[in-house]
Amino acid sequence: MKAITVEPGTINSLRLDEHADPVADSMHLLVETIALGICGTDRDIVSGHYGWAPPGASRLVIGHESLGRVLVAPQGSGFSVGDLVVGIVRRPDPVPCPACGVGEWDMCRNGLYTERGIKSADGYGAQRFLLEPAYAVKVAPSLGALGVLLEPASVLAKAWEHIERIGRRTTGWKPRTVLITGAGPVGLLAALMAHQRGLQAHVLDRADRPLKTDLIHALGGVYHADRLPPDLQVDIVIECTASSPLILEALRRPGGNGIVCLTGVSSSGGTVPFDVGAFNRATVLQNDVVFGSVNANRRHYEIGAKALAGADPAWLARLITRRVPLARWPEAFERRDGDIKVILQFASDPA
Ligand SMILES: [Zn+2]
Repeated sequence: MKAITVEPGTINSLRLDEHADPVADSMHLLVETIALGICGTDRDIVSGHYGWAPPGASRLVIGHESLGRVLVAPQGSGFSVGDLVVGIVRRPDPVPCPACGVGEWDMCRNGLYTERGIKSADGYGAQRFLLEPAYAVKVAPSLGALGVLLEPASVLAKAWEHIERIGRRTTGWKPRTVLITGAGPVGLLAALMAHQRGLQAHVLDRADRPLKTDLIHALGGVYHADRLPPDLQVDIVIECTASSPLILEALRRPGGNGIVCLTGVSSSGGTVPFDVGAFNRATVLQNDVVFGSVNANRRHYEIGAKALAGADPAWLARLITRRVPLARWPEAFERRDGDIKVILQFASDPA
């Protein structure tokens, strides 16, 4: 079978390799890959800035946003042949730390977790893969090919869960507005979940983008190209860009009892002027919370699957702006103007 592999730490080492077919066993589902979503983490790995090969290997099968069809399911696994599934990305550390010990590997404390397609475990960018039933999430047949959006949706499901848990520190918390910085797949899924909670989303992105504007308007939200109204203040901020100027915008927009959730992973070293005193003063006097959120555990995948199942499929379908067939796989890793979510198509979509 074909697998897309990379040598972590080496720029542009991506290639399509021939790998031995995985063999079904009593512990794993054998899954045929339908589609693979490509994101910024994949591009970071391809550019040599991130990623770890499995122990003893020099190359890593890339890919963590999966959608597949079960070919073989062990008896008693809870899965059947033909089920659509998405593989969870992270596996708990073997120690385990207190978080991993209770299934919250997204909160791992010792960093010894592994991640399929990213950190020390082969990913889902192969024509077939094995998956432990405990790390497989069923996708509703009605969602079909849109199930490839589940991994990014799980990350936002976690962010929203934590925002709401923080919100419950005060009984009177009734948020109405949210600012989302960045209108990529993460920002748009954040806006979808804001809409599903009855909140109005203000979404800030770099330039006028008709498709993104349309998608935000369809959610009853407001699209801001390049800049925000100077006096805009919101109850919740979700920062999805990891860009320093936008992080600064995010930090100064909560309007009291505010919650700022940072979801982007930036590189260090870029310094910008920042008034720590003013930030501290506002944060204390307004009871604001700034927190980071990454990854997702099984519960978040299940919440994410419900969020996707409850969304307008036509709206979700518009997030997928390019589908690249496996024969032209390098194109999936290119950045093109107008891209939102690019997927690599391994097999035909579910009927
Ligand atoms: Zn852990």
